[in-house]
Amino acid sequence: MPIVYRAANIVDAQLVMDELRAAGFQVRMSGSYLSGAAGELPPDQVITVWIDSDRQYDRARLVVAEFEASQRAGGADRPCGQCNEMLSPQFGKCWKCGAWQVEE
Ligand SMILES: [Zn+2]
Repeated sequence: MPIVYRAANIVDAQLVMDELRAAGFQVRMSGSYLSGAAGELPPDQVITVWIDSDRQYDRARLVVAEFEASQRAGGADRPCGQCNEMLSPQFGKCWKCGAWQVEE
């Protein structure tokens, strides 16, 4: 089973899994979410997304590449509303102080 994506956070991992599932892939995730502490991940924790078949790897990587491109187009980093730490737009929660980020 090849790894098709390495996510820096559970949100990205879940989004990629949704994209791959929608494209018909059998996917699974491994990483720190298994610890049950999804809200308190250290920032360097890596979550990996896997597909079941080696033969589907190239096609799955295309789906992931499209996802990554759409993420980059998602906007600039923004400061946390509470501590002003700069966060990527896909983060729902500040990794530093834990404050939930309100959608603008
Ligand atoms: Zn913060």
